[in-house]
Amino acid sequence: MLTAKKGFSPYAVLMGEVARAGGAPLGQRWDLHVHTTASDGTVHPGELPALAQAAGLAGIAITDHDTTAGFSYWADGARPALPIIPGIELSTTYLGRSHHLLAYLPDPTSSWVAEHCRAVRAAREERLVAMIELLGAPTGPAPGLSLAEVSRQVPPGATVGRPHLADALVARGVFSDRAQAFAGPLAHTSEFYIPNPAPDLLATIEAVIHCADAVPVLAHPAARRARLDKLAPVITAAAQAGLFGLEIDHPEHTWEQRTWLSTIANDHGLHPFGSSDFHGEGKPNRLGQETTDSPVLAALIAGREERILGYGSNS
Ligand code: AMP
Ligand code: FE
Ligand code: FE
Ligand code: ZN
Repeated sequence: MLTAKKGFSPYAVLMGEVARAGGAPLGQRWDLHVHTTASDGTVHPGELPALAQAAGLAGIAITDHDTTAGFSYWADGARPALPIIPGIELSTTYLGRSHHLLAYLPDPTSSWVAEHCRAVRAAREERLVAMIELLGAPTGPAPGLSLAEVSRQVPPGATVGRPHLADALVARGVFSDRAQAFAGPLAHTSEFYIPNPAPDLLATIEAVIHCADAVPVLAHPAARRARLDKLAPVITAAAQAGLFGLEIDHPEHTWEQRTWLSTIANDHGLHPFGSSDFHGEGKPNRLGQETTDSPVLAALIAGREERILGYGSNS
């Protein structure tokens, strides 16, 4: 009988559930893309299991931007009411476009993960300061905006991003919610926008597999994409680099996009994921709005099961 270690690791959270289930099938509905106050979500990781239970979910993945802090909350805390799958959402670029990559079950001892997150988070902070200067210029939308003012919107230790700038503009009364701010000066087409440095998608997929020993899944590939034909070579190249799955059911995908993505996933043997990309109050997406079926999660876990189950087996 496998038992979790005291002060158990994030993997042991999952392991505990798998072990307790005694080989029984995993529960049915999983929401494997959820943000917390460790990045740009507004719900603390400690509050998620109750919300997930209320949404009728079997479990969730915590996938904050460029940090392991969200799921690591559960490494030292109480056992969650349902399994939490560790994940990270990484920003990448390919052929001049931004692509978000989910990395599931990263090796908790991976120095690549630690260094990647450290470097990206540091760059995000520099970019935040540069955007504050633009937004806070006398002719900008928030004259005099300061780092101190924005920092009041950032939970301690969170990965910073445009959503926190949006919160500062909302707090000033410039906009009524994040979405309005994103439709205005925070849009990626705006004169106030500065991109985050984002590494190459294919190199990141390879690092996720070989350095983080994690499972790469392309997040919301068609969101805000007018031209699906331009996405085909990206998915083909990503599949060749070792991509495991595609997020197909996502609140920002139209039905036409989902049909197209299902076909291309099938063609490349990519597993189909469905996730809410929940950000709490930060977005209209509801927890459990889209879900992944348990056989897909079982396939994701399969290659890592030995390591996951290895946790705690000698404690
Ligand atoms: P950044 O990585 O700092 O450029 O910020 C991108 C983040 O902003 C994404 O992860 C989304 O969660 C969030 N975001 C993008 N568009 C919107 C929107 N319309 N409303 C709220 N949040 C958004
Ligand atoms: Fe986000
Ligand atoms: Fe994303
Ligand atoms: Zn996300």
